[in-house]
Amino acid sequence: MKPLEAKINPEDVPARLKSSRILATVVRGILWIDDKSQRYRVDPFSRVLLEVPANEGPLSDLKALFDSEFAESKGPLSTRSIAFATPGRRYLRMRHLCTTHGEKQFMIEDMTELVLSDLELQENDNALRKLFENATHGIYRATLSGQHVFANPALTAMMGFEKQEDWLAKSKSGIRELYVNPERYDEFNTALQKNGRVSDFVCEMFKSNGEKFWVSATAWMVRDKDEVATHIDGTFTDVTERMRHYESVKHAAETDELTGLCNRSKVYSEIEQRTKMMSGNNGFTVLLFDLDRFKDINDVYGHATGDAVLVEISQRLRDIVGDFGVVARLGGDEFAAVIEDAALQISVEELGNRFLTRLREPIPFNGAEHAMSASIGVARFPDDATERAELLRKADIALYNVKSHGRNSICRFKPEFEHRRQRAHFLAQELRDAGRRGELELYYQPIVAADTSAIMGFEALMRWNHPDRGMISPAEFIPIAEDAGYMQEFGGWAIQEACSHIVTLPKHLYVSVNVSAVQFNASDFPLVVEKALEITGLHPSRLELEVTEGVVIRNEERTAEILNRLKKIGVRVALDDFGTGYSSFSYLQKFHFDKVKIDRSFVRDLADNKTNAALVRAVLSIGRDLGLEVVAEGIENLAQRDQLVLEGCPFFQGYLFGRPAPFSDVASNVALQNLPQRHPALEQVEVRKLFA
Ligand code: C2E
Ligand code: MG
Ligand code: MG
Repeated sequence: MKPLEAKINPEDVPARLKSSRILATVVRGILWIDDKSQRYRVDPFSRVLLEVPANEGPLSDLKALFDSEFAESKGPLSTRSIAFATPGRRYLRMRHLCTTHGEKQFMIEDMTELVLSDLELQENDNALRKLFENATHGIYRATLSGQHVFANPALTAMMGFEKQEDWLAKSKSGIRELYVNPERYDEFNTALQKNGRVSDFVCEMFKSNGEKFWVSATAWMVRDKDEVATHIDGTFTDVTERMRHYESVKHAAETDELTGLCNRSKVYSEIEQRTKMMSGNNGFTVLLFDLDRFKDINDVYGHATGDAVLVEISQRLRDIVGDFGVVARLGGDEFAAVIEDAALQISVEELGNRFLTRLREPIPFNGAEHAMSASIGVARFPDDATERAELLRKADIALYNVKSHGRNSICRFKPEFEHRRQRAHFLAQELRDAGRRGELELYYQPIVAADTSAIMGFEALMRWNHPDRGMISPAEFIPIAEDAGYMQEFGGWAIQEACSHIVTLPKHLYVSVNVSAVQFNASDFPLVVEKALEITGLHPSRLELEVTEGVVIRNEERTAEILNRLKKIGVRVALDDFGTGYSSFSYLQKFHFDKVKIDRSFVRDLADNKTNAALVRAVLSIGRDLGLEVVAEGIENLAQRDQLVLEGCPFFQGYLFGRPAPFSDVASNVALQNLPQRHPALEQVEVRKLFA
């Protein structure tokens, strides 16, 4: 066989011959050679096989029968068996059978089919070997216990080895440790045992130098004819690029571009997952954050500053949540955190308070410092809801509740909030046209002097006279109007309306109008005030504006600037609700307010609460030092009044002295009372003179 191997090109073999299976398998001929003469004769079969023409007589030129190979092969007739090709590319084997009467007898067998298929196999084998050697994918064969017995160069290189033997030796000592997450190796094997095949199993592995890379592994069990698994064949493909791309696409799809936090869709899927995985005792909490009056920052300082603030806030949230859970930006100034019970060492309220404290720390920007606050709504799985959408809705309702109660606080969902939220939704829609339809009205509440009981002025308090729902409190609709962006319009109207009313009253009476943060921070606010005075003809000294601490802490520089402009106009400014927010005495010193109003929550339990009493005393003392007027709000009974009189509070406001009332009532009362006069409530105690 050997001499044939190198020379045969299967392409050259006539198709006729290739397909002549019968001939190939059954035809055997006999050839006789006369030893002396070297002449030969053949039987009919051999004649066909050797392609000897039928009319050729006794044959002499044996050599002519065969191609050059025959000639080259030494001593063919002395060997017992020789294979050769005919000129027509038929592959024959000649076997010496016997020698009788000086004549050698040979059997001629057609080996063409056998030779060709053997060659074909060899060709295939070579092609496969080339594929194996040159493939860019790693290919291996492993024992059932996972040791690689073959590995192609691509696999060897992929694993960071130079020589195949080194990789095979390494695999012998176990490759589980090469998986970044070894449990993935176990998963892979379990799936392979179970299904007989695993496709595109992606996992991260270590190279020999410790470098990490991603691999897609495919493997299948190879079985013998009795279906008994004998070994494993498989491929490894380096999918690091694919995974990087996937990770970057995934990251982009799950990340908020500005802050780098998770985005809405990611946190939603995190919540969704947890609702499916967790139960009962092992729950989690969703916190929704809304930055209080963030819109002002954008409106006043522009979006670049707004963005910088959001980035800073997100960092703070991240700092606090740390590894406890997930923080996300839902969009705009809304954030969310998801925290599992198991990770939380403190109560949600405590965590919320940490957030609030941290958020209040001033943020330096535009050369000044600004403090933010946030409202936080909380809902817990599974107590408040077991589905993602419902859980978020409830956290949102709790958030709304915080917003409508002065913001800057945290609150967990309660069923009774539901109705309020729905109502707010309807009110927001109806509020837009309330001003145009003339449904807004100002009520007036007297502010009296403690010593003379004289009415000094009135606070103007807005009311919404809803045609179907009746009178709606500003505590309810003002936060909605602020959120919806109506407060500039409503607030401007209130100033002008109040001025137009008060100008008709005796000249010693002033009016105090509440101003929202969004209104106060608008650059044209002083102009709005000036215009109202001009149109109504009210003297600036008879107009007072009430702002809350929330206005001041936003931007101290700007507050100072606006206060100065207002001072120049000649109006007075009061700091309202002192004690409810940050109660920072430094604001009283820093800014030139004319008045401070102590919030009614301090007045309410003055008798029992020593801290409140101390704060009231401190405010009064600072007021005296700085020449600030002090008004105590919300005085409802004589006991409160008496105590405040003893503390030396100079001005009072509260139901005890008069409830807020429509202007017509106030005007007729004022006319009747021939002011100034002692208020009846003050007749019953001896009033300590202040500022003696
Ligand atoms: P505020 O400026 O602190 O006004 C005092 C609030 O306390 C008023 O509530 C008043 O009716 C209430 N009050 C006065 N005396 C007593 C009392 O003895 N007991 C009790 N329990 N309450 C008393 P009102 O009118 O519901 O206004 C609530 C808040 O809405 C105001 O608090 C103010 O922050 C805001 N607001 C009212 N009108 C306007 C407005 O025109 N513009 C803006 N921006 N805010 C306004
Ligand atoms: Mg007020
Ligand atoms: Mg107040």
